Amino acid sequence: ERIDFVTYFHHIIDRLEMNIPEHITFQRDLPNEKLPVLMDQDKITQVLDNIISNGIKYSPEGGRITLRVTKQRYRIVIAVEDQGMGIAYDKLDKIFDRFYRTDKARTRKLGGTGLGLAISKEIVEAHHGKIWATSKEGKGTTISFTLPLVGKKRRFTR
Ligand code: ATP
Ligand code: MG
Repeated sequence: ERIDFVTYFHHIIDRLEMNIPEHITFQRDLPNEKLPVLMDQDKITQVLDNIISNGIKYSPEGGRITLRVTKQRYRIVIAVEDQGMGIAYDKLDKIFDRFYRTDKARTRKLGGTGLGLAISKEIVEAHHGKIWATSKEGKGTTISFTLPLVGKKRRFTR
């Protein structure tokens, strides 16, 4: 369905905000314009639920989680930035593999199967988007993904 991503994302954040732990705060960095995207709303909700709950789960000391949307020419970039434990540079691609969990995630006995990001990647790619991670160990992690914008109706002229 065709959805205004900004309105939709505000609703998602509102819902999650009601249940976040006390030591976590959300910060919204969303544009004030409509950004129409063609997407399966339930599937993208699954992606956001996983990425944002990872941000909370892997930030045991707490901190701010920034939820950002930026518009580019033909796509939007959605970014979820935390101030948690971070991920080693050489593991940044592996976290999207099925069942992969970092040593830190396992030794801290944080529950999980290691499927969340693998499923998220499949969903994002099915929407013709990309997903990636940037991180600094001990400082925090940003998970970003793109979705194509619905173009203005093209008028074909000769
Ligand atoms: P599941 O999502 O299936 O319950 P999970 O959270 O372990 O389990 P993924 O969401 O796929 O699985 O994440 C894979 C691994 O990537 C995690 O186990 C963790 O090691 C690492 N990871 C993911 N997000 C973060 C983050 N925000 N900060 C630090 N490490 C992360
Ligand atoms: Mg997860």
